[in-house]
Amino acid sequence: MAHRIQLPVEFEFEVEQTSYVLGTIRLRKWAAYGLRVDIIAPQELAGEYGIPVSPVYFPSSVKEQLAAPGRSLNPAGKPGRALNLDVAKRDIEVLLCVYPDGCDLEHPPKKKVIDAWQLRHDFLHLKHSMAALSEFLNYYGRWSRLTYPYPELRRQGRTSSLSFSPGLLFGEEMWEQQTEIKDSLRGDRGEWLQKHPLGFGSRSKFPYFVHTDSTCLGAIQTSIGIDFLRRVPFRICKRSDCGIPFPADRKGKQYCSQYCAHIVSVRRSRAQLRKKAGMDQKG
Ligand SMILES: [Zn+2]
Repeated sequence: MAHRIQLPVEFEFEVEQTSYVLGTIRLRKWAAYGLRVDIIAPQELAGEYGIPVSPVYFPSSVKEQLAAPGRSLNPAGKPGRALNLDVAKRDIEVLLCVYPDGCDLEHPPKKKVIDAWQLRHDFLHLKHSMAALSEFLNYYGRWSRLTYPYPELRRQGRTSSLSFSPGLLFGEEMWEQQTEIKDSLRGDRGEWLQKHPLGFGSRSKFPYFVHTDSTCLGAIQTSIGIDFLRRVPFRICKRSDCGIPFPADRKGKQYCSQYCAHIVSVRRSRAQLRKKAGMDQKG
């Protein structure tokens, strides 16, 4: 028979601070494992991007233009193939992830202790704009394991030096993850926990077992896992144009945030005023 025992464990949310810069890229040609791209802006990062970028990360409008009609997007086996001119001329907005000034692999960026629940709330409410996304990430830090500057060995004659290519982040990729997180809060808890198991490391002081997250995405997933394990009930915000799930920690709470409650009450009083004005006119 299985034993069910409650034991204390600790959670740490310490996210690495990386800088995110708004920029644009342009596609050049197919390579063996993706696409060669050029960074167009900002000026100080402009030039050929160090590694081929897998087309799966590109916004769907770009992917549609890339795929041959009726065929799936599979760049393998056509390195060097020229791109359709329309798509090659387009500037694609990205966020470039770079190390803050003075940081390198030997001096990793500082970590910041964050509140994973506040982070989740802010991410779910994030507006779909690259400027808002950049402000959000520059405040919280590294988004995921996939988004970080890539180390590259550059050869010049006989010497080689280590440099970094910025990590690329596309808005659409982030909005998709926002929807996924919203859906998972409304979805099947057992299924979610099975797909996102919590792992623990150990250390010499109480409570000995600790789970550490060093990226925003990891911290959000852990916050969901903890809420699900604690059986926190979730409700959907009643503001018609919000619909974000929120932890129902108080009886009768109808809105995800004070902001939404305020908007609804402003709308309600305006509607009442209009109705009253209408009645006055009639009378
Ligand atoms: Zn809301």
